[in-house]
Amino acid sequence: MADERVWVIATGNPGKRCEIEAILSHCDVSVRGLSPDESVAFPDEGTDYRENAIEKARAVAAQLGVIGVADDSGIEVDALDGAPGPLSARYGGEGLDDRGRVDKLLAALAGTEGDARGAKFVCHAALVTPEGETVVAYGECRGVILAAPRGRGGFGYDPVFQPEGFDRSMAEVDTATKHQISHRGRAFRDLEARVRAELGAAV
Ligand code: IMP
Repeated sequence: MADERVWVIATGNPGKRCEIEAILSHCDVSVRGLSPDESVAFPDEGTDYRENAIEKARAVAAQLGVIGVADDSGIEVDALDGAPGPLSARYGGEGLDDRGRVDKLLAALAGTEGDARGAKFVCHAALVTPEGETVVAYGECRGVILAAPRGRGGFGYDPVFQPEGFDRSMAEVDTATKHQISHRGRAFRDLEARVRAELGAAV
């Protein structure tokens, strides 16, 4: 029997896991990451954020008999017709790290200025129970791509993303502020509210 109160985060990305734990720490749920002795086979990711999030949460729920939660997220740049989008984690190929992907994005935007550097982070969040009940939510955060990386916080594309209304990069704002305005903060707060409304107190 699953511990109905614990939400198990389906991700191997430590940056994401920390953020989801911090965001949900303000909600009335217990949450944890996968422990080293829990091995889960995740399906290959496609290009549909919502489906990807559901499949990750479902893999944890079905294989471990717990409540699985997951997100699928990415950055969409206006001048690149929404790329890298769902492929953000793999932009430039498997050999690149976060810094390499940032450099590739900056190179792709060389010569692009002003409003054309507009972009948004998007996040689809999903919760799946061991019985297969599924709840999904969405959040986004608009901003612009900076000319060069700034700041040491966050992960991924944070150093080159300046959220709307700020004069600092996402890697320069404190974590509480990031969670307040971010795509992930919005998606998971909405997910928690939807779970309460759709599944009630059991979860
Ligand atoms: P996935 O959801 O595991 O496919 O990975 C999403 C990818 O999008 C991450 O690996 C990052 O490259 C990028 N990304 C998603 N959310 C953020 C964020 O909050 N900050 C910076 N980069 C992010």
